[in-house]
Amino acid sequence: MDLVTSTWTEPANTATALLLLGRGTDPASERGVDCPGDLPAPSDPDLVARATAAKAALGERVFVLGHHYQRDEVIQFADVTGDSFKLAREAAARPDAEFIVFCGVHFMAESADILTGPGQQVILPDLAAGCSMADMAVLGQVETAWEQFTDLGIADDVVPVTYMNSSADIKGFVGRNNGVVCTSSNAKRALDWAFEQGQQVFFLPDQHLGRNTAVLEMGFDLDDCVLYDPHKPHGGLTPEQLRDAKMILWRGHCSVHGRFTIDSVREVRERVPGVRVLVHPECRHDVVRAADEVGSTEYIIRALDAAPAGSAWAVGTELNLVRRMALAHPDKHITFLDRTVCYCSTMNRIDLPHLVWALEELVAGRVPNRITVDEDTAKYARVALDQMLALP
Ligand code: SF4
Repeated sequence: MDLVTSTWTEPANTATALLLLGRGTDPASERGVDCPGDLPAPSDPDLVARATAAKAALGERVFVLGHHYQRDEVIQFADVTGDSFKLAREAAARPDAEFIVFCGVHFMAESADILTGPGQQVILPDLAAGCSMADMAVLGQVETAWEQFTDLGIADDVVPVTYMNSSADIKGFVGRNNGVVCTSSNAKRALDWAFEQGQQVFFLPDQHLGRNTAVLEMGFDLDDCVLYDPHKPHGGLTPEQLRDAKMILWRGHCSVHGRFTIDSVREVRERVPGVRVLVHPECRHDVVRAADEVGSTEYIIRALDAAPAGSAWAVGTELNLVRRMALAHPDKHITFLDRTVCYCSTMNRIDLPHLVWALEELVAGRVPNRITVDEDTAKYARVALDQMLALP
């Protein structure tokens, strides 16, 4: 990609990102760090040839999925790119592919295993690629909360709704308790359906998506939402608060989208005249309120593709995607909403060395890092996913 013809400006390095990227200077936050950017490429150039050869050797037996937040060095080998749900469905639509190599994070690979056939094996190139948001809702904690609702006599009227970004365990819990999975594209439809089934919604694990959808799309007040903190006794809520709430929001969030602040929005409006601020609904409520548009990853891509030449955008989502969109549209001024870099560190665990290793292992007849979901959990998770697919 030609950086010279683009209006893209790389956000400033934070100390952590400096270590990841190996260039720039940040003496204020990390004493002594000053790297002029002359380091060799992080990946051995031979790895491109090795990945190409291993993929060719596997042919139709392998299907590589690449999430939008993945690095370019990985995305170039993806047979299809997309958000987590689109990728899981793409995998299910390729029953002839024996191996699904999922360049994304753990919960996504689990969803792919749930939706694919018994003859297919899902591989995550680095098992450390988890999701901090999904990890914020652990089955034991959620079951404790549910027991509390049962003791209060409200469980029969509470419908659990979980965001796609949750573990298979949580999706299974939701399916077992007659709830539904949602994505950031269909959260309103899922909540409409849930409120037809009961009086209250228990929303997992992303408080921001739950709150933003309930308040901005469904007309609820902020006071209709309460925050259930699994680390406090009784979730930190009184029985009255739990009984009166329309939305019981789990105290989880995305560490990437949670970084954008109202100050980022103010600052970019001063810096870029006429800019339109476009953010993901995993951002905080005040940020979403201050933005001009809010939408899922696929929405963001469509909006930027359709934007007129010369228009200016500040985008609040993961940096790999924003950079890729900016470089694909040099006729538009696309900038990152924050002044400093903001990668999903767990997504970035998948790099070219891990992808090469996974593909070469498969060529050698070994299946590395297979992700499997037990049959019982998968059965109920499928119930909640099927309910999502049946949403009107
Ligand atoms: S961007 Fe946020 S929600 Fe997505 S994988 Fe990373 S931590 Fe999880």
